[in-house]
Amino acid sequence: MNLHRAKLDIVEAGRRVYQRGYVASNDGNISCRIDEDRILTTPTGVSKGFMKVEDLCVVDFDGKQVSGTMRPSSEIGMHIFLYRERPDMHAVVHAHPPTATGFAVAGIPLTECVLPEVVITLGSVPIADYGTPGGPEISEPIRKWVKDYDAYLLENHGATTIGLDVINAYHKMETLEHFAKILLVARQLGGANVLSEEQVGKLLKIRDRMGIQGPNPACAPEPPHASAGSDQPTTTTDAIPTLKTRSAGGSLAPLSGSTPSSPPADTSPLIDEITRRVVEELRRRSP
Ligand SMILES: [Zn+2]
Repeated sequence: MNLHRAKLDIVEAGRRVYQRGYVASNDGNISCRIDEDRILTTPTGVSKGFMKVEDLCVVDFDGKQVSGTMRPSSEIGMHIFLYRERPDMHAVVHAHPPTATGFAVAGIPLTECVLPEVVITLGSVPIADYGTPGGPEISEPIRKWVKDYDAYLLENHGATTIGLDVINAYHKMETLEHFAKILLVARQLGGANVLSEEQVGKLLKIRDRMGIQGPNPACAPEPPHASAGSDQPTTTTDAIPTLKTRSAGGSLAPLSGSTPSSPPADTSPLIDEITRRVVEELRRRSP
């Protein structure tokens, strides 16, 4: 990973998370694994919207500062944990996007299979149990999800995404918050119609054709690594929140009183058209 490129990308991702309201004050942190031994990270106590490249710090995999004049993020332990668990990923973004964090506070994972671009790029998003920020407690609850998901809600806290590079991890955060906003609106309007397993299957084939890397937990009955490395046995309450589909009975209950509208008799043409537009947009964004 080119160090200068990584610095520019972290500053840019910081500007975007701040401008889009995914963090308040000095919240949030972003990092990039620049080689086998070093991680470039945002500093603590600085607004992510106004960072300069010289504010960034480099730490080793023990969290020891290697360079930089400011102190590294207090959440660097979580970043190191994620890099150790996911050697295929090179960047981490942690923020508190309000709608996704609202789901994390309400204890509702983002598991409904409702949006083609989310199925293609992200899959579903589980909630990691609460851990005190700024220390090792925050990482351990992510362990059971880490191998099978690239985005995690953190209970009563926020969200973390991992990516192939900084912008890729940032885009997952943006998709996550967008997903949460749309799902919230759908619930307020009476409930979400979820895609069928057949429709999701078509989207996963598109994902394969596009060569998108990393796990995708869409509708997987039981991701294989769910309890790997955990000392705790998997219990029924640890069930993996895979994306729900219509045929799996996944339509959401309305928030209050209203009746969810029935799904149209045949939504395939609409889904096909949405899928075509999503794929066009993703291709346009690809470097
Ligand atoms: Zn946080």
